Amino acid sequence: MEYTIEAYNELVEKLLALSVAYYDNDAPLVSDFEYDRMNNELKRIEAEHPAWIRPDSPTQHVGGHVSEAFSPVEHPVPLESLQDVFSFEEVTAFVEKMDASVPEEHEYVTEPKIDGLSVAVEYRNGVLYQGATRGNGAVGEDVTENLRTIRSLPKKLKNAPSRIIVRGEVYMSHDTFNTINAQREVEGLPLLANPRNAAAGSLRQQDPAICAQRMLDIICFNIQLAEGVTYQTHYETLEAMAAMGFPVVAHTLCKTPQACADAITAIGEGRENYPFDIDGAVVKLNGLSQREALGSTAKYPRWAVAYKYPPEKKPSRVVDILIQVGRTGVLTPKAVIESIRLAGTTVTNATLHNQDFIENLGVNVGDTVLVQKAGEIIPEVLEVVKKDSEGVFRFPTVCPACGAPVVRDEDGAAIRCTGAECPAQRLRNIVHFASKDAMDIDGLGPAVVEALDKAELIHTPAELYYLEPQSVAAVERMGKKSAENLLANIADSKTRGLGRLLCAFGIRQVGAKAAKVLARHFATLDELMAATEEELTVIDDVGPITARYLTEWFASEQSRHQIQLLREAGVSFESTEEIADTRFAGKTFVLTGALEKYTRSEAEEIIERFGGKTSGSVSKKTSYVLVGANPGSKLTKAEALGIPVITEDEFAELIKD
Ligand code: NAD
Repeated sequence: MEYTIEAYNELVEKLLALSVAYYDNDAPLVSDFEYDRMNNELKRIEAEHPAWIRPDSPTQHVGGHVSEAFSPVEHPVPLESLQDVFSFEEVTAFVEKMDASVPEEHEYVTEPKIDGLSVAVEYRNGVLYQGATRGNGAVGEDVTENLRTIRSLPKKLKNAPSRIIVRGEVYMSHDTFNTINAQREVEGLPLLANPRNAAAGSLRQQDPAICAQRMLDIICFNIQLAEGVTYQTHYETLEAMAAMGFPVVAHTLCKTPQACADAITAIGEGRENYPFDIDGAVVKLNGLSQREALGSTAKYPRWAVAYKYPPEKKPSRVVDILIQVGRTGVLTPKAVIESIRLAGTTVTNATLHNQDFIENLGVNVGDTVLVQKAGEIIPEVLEVVKKDSEGVFRFPTVCPACGAPVVRDEDGAAIRCTGAECPAQRLRNIVHFASKDAMDIDGLGPAVVEALDKAELIHTPAELYYLEPQSVAAVERMGKKSAENLLANIADSKTRGLGRLLCAFGIRQVGAKAAKVLARHFATLDELMAATEEELTVIDDVGPITARYLTEWFASEQSRHQIQLLREAGVSFESTEEIADTRFAGKTFVLTGALEKYTRSEAEEIIERFGGKTSGSVSKKTSYVLVGANPGSKLTKAEALGIPVITEDEFAELIKD
């Protein structure tokens, strides 16, 4: 494909935005596979058009920034990235290039590439002194206290040099990841996306106690600096680190390209046995003086490459196709498959996305499908590899949870249940009501909600506020003490305020962010309920569709009943947000003539601050024309159209407190 410079710039911007999500927010927006694909495309364009290369291109620097939330730590020896390769031919080409550039005898070390977060840890006189993230490679973030919580990281070394800095990869083991996610599911918290981001997110917590709960681990793979000691080879440094007490990466000495390829294959084949994710294998030149002679580019050393394994895919037979009903009533199909081990975890189901996806694949129960796990939480079905069934799975026409008819959304592929009393939606609604971003009721996760529902104690979120201690204590696995705690937490949530309550209602398109915006505009729930669709649309960030969902939701009999119950229970309907003054909402001003009290931009800023807009020309839609000295034709037009004309003094009256 031929690229234009505009398309190149767009790709750079896109990759930079993805890098911020990945490195700085620890919340990737696409899989690594997808990111690498785009990054390779970028490299290809840059190779063809070197003149286009921007200094901020992701190919020109180590990804990641230093967050202001942490103190900066300068790395005396930079923490570089690695050059990626995706085929054995490229590994061979790398080894051959090394062979050509290093005249004396040399070897390589091949190691698994742990998919975690890179850190440098410094020890002084054998005692842990400081630790930092990679950051931008030159400066990292001080995470010493969090690193201290990692049990596999030694706090004291045996026979160490007076000052030593080692580099390692902090990771979350599969077991820990699964345990934490199982717990989060019970508590109704969002699941951690993958072990790599979970590790990065945990190590960059402000509170070391939270980091400690995440039970991170570390494996070290390099000595960055060792005062007063000279090592000859990388292999020797790994052995020295092990002797000092560090957990050290597995390493194989290789002499030929074939030996490197064999070591990479062996690591790939043993991938399932590692307790952590690996995303590749690293081949490094062993001699340290040879490395120094070769040096580095701006981003990575010339003496190493990282071979990236393709995402693991495996075939499995579909034993069932289940339809889950989400909180907003969307029906999501998933394939239940014969259990397989994929990228270190046991996989028993894979997403089928939606009805269109099923039809495009032509899949049905009994078929053998290819399943891929590319770093996301839920593995996905890629294709049908063996068709053993008749026809294609028929998507239900009624909701599997309540039997109500289902409809396809006007604007997409989603199929939604229309049942107002759908139990699947009902339970998820209550779990959502209690979730962190909403009413934040500790201890009210899916398991407890299900138990309360089974005991027929609640059917709607509002009924939570009417629970009796004795009946809750009688619920399966509950007991008096837990019941008391739960009820205290529920009572506490009454004062969360309008923003959280709105989020808790689970109105379509009204998540935590939109709820907050609304709570900045309306002082109480009653004010919001009295607003028309048009009035809502005027608010920035509230589009016509959201406005419609809001008014429809508030108009429904069921919602009104809920609100009544919440009101009677004493749940606060008042906003705790600073209320924005929107007295000019929906109003458009045109300015004409020379203003004396304000500059034009001051006047425009005031209008916008109060929710209004300014325009350059007068039309029927203009609300006011603000006139200064020597007004132009705009005044004449305003008079002709009968638009109110105001002086600066009148404007001053309008903006008075
Ligand atoms: P990298 O992760 O590919 O390689 C460098 C890192 O490997 C080093 O920082 C080091 O800590 C680590 N490493 C692990 N084991 C090692 C060993 N034995 N020897 C040496 N180093 C070892 O490079 P990068 O620049 O940090 O990041 C690129 C990666 O991040 C790619 O995999 C890319 O897919 C991913 N990424 C993903 C997104 C996304 O949106 N999904 C965005 C940006 C980056």
